[in-house]
Amino acid sequence: MAKENREEFDLRKFVPEEEQRKTFAKVFDKRTIHALHKLASRGYFDIVVHVISTGKEAHVFLARDSAGNSKAVKIYKTDTSDFNKMYEYLHGDRRFGKVKRNKRDIVFAWAKKEFSNLLLINKVGVSCPMPIAFFENVLVMEFIGIEEIASPALKEKPLENIEKVYKTEIDFLARLLFKAELVHADFSEYNILNRNGELVLIDVGQAVLTTHPEAESFFERDLNNVANYFSKKGLKKTAEEVRADVKALKEKV
Ligand code: ATP
Ligand code: MN
Repeated sequence: MAKENREEFDLRKFVPEEEQRKTFAKVFDKRTIHALHKLASRGYFDIVVHVISTGKEAHVFLARDSAGNSKAVKIYKTDTSDFNKMYEYLHGDRRFGKVKRNKRDIVFAWAKKEFSNLLLINKVGVSCPMPIAFFENVLVMEFIGIEEIASPALKEKPLENIEKVYKTEIDFLARLLFKAELVHADFSEYNILNRNGELVLIDVGQAVLTTHPEAESFFERDLNNVANYFSKKGLKKTAEEVRADVKALKEKV
């Protein structure tokens, strides 16, 4: 069988639903499809069920393994992202400082960085998806949802008890800062999922070690996001008050 045909055949098996397959073929190059096959052949999933989210830098899909378990598969785009910005986040982080400045290496390092950050964040007791595997620009992780329905972001589905949400977010920030020595750098109600009232932190590809030269300004931005969100919800906070509340947990987390 010719190579093209073989790939088409494989994609059919892999993304059975026709509309999903069309989206897939449009947005992913051969190498990305190959990376997905690689992970599928290792048993991390069997089929891609549907798209959960299509973003600027990544697409997230619901996949299913042979036992019927749901997985989230995040695929970073290798063509249209802001590679200069990604490079800055990588370069200043000593774990990834040696990354070469070309699109592919940047994106592959990014997927690896999100995997490493998820591991670290899990370890310090912050609820986030458990990372499962990565290969090139593809990351497989625990699916956050009920049955096959992905949980909404806190932005879309706020919780009643705002004080409790605040406490949880301060606990997350303190664990990240003092136990993982990480700054999330995109901490907001968009990147916290609400799984039936349980908050789950996601989107940690950009999170950097506190030794990154920009860590303090990223942290400042996170504090501002938190202050603005809770102020809008009627729990008035300044960024400096949020900082103080995080600091007060230093010896407690
Ligand atoms: P965007 O460019 O859209 O902001 P992103 O790079 O920020 O994408 P994420 O925030 O990690 O990527 O994921 C995008 C969306 O996919 C999330 O808002 C969430 O709805 C969904 N999602 C991500 N990870 C998971 C997961 N593990 N389980 C369920 N849904 C997820
Ligand atoms: Mn996001």
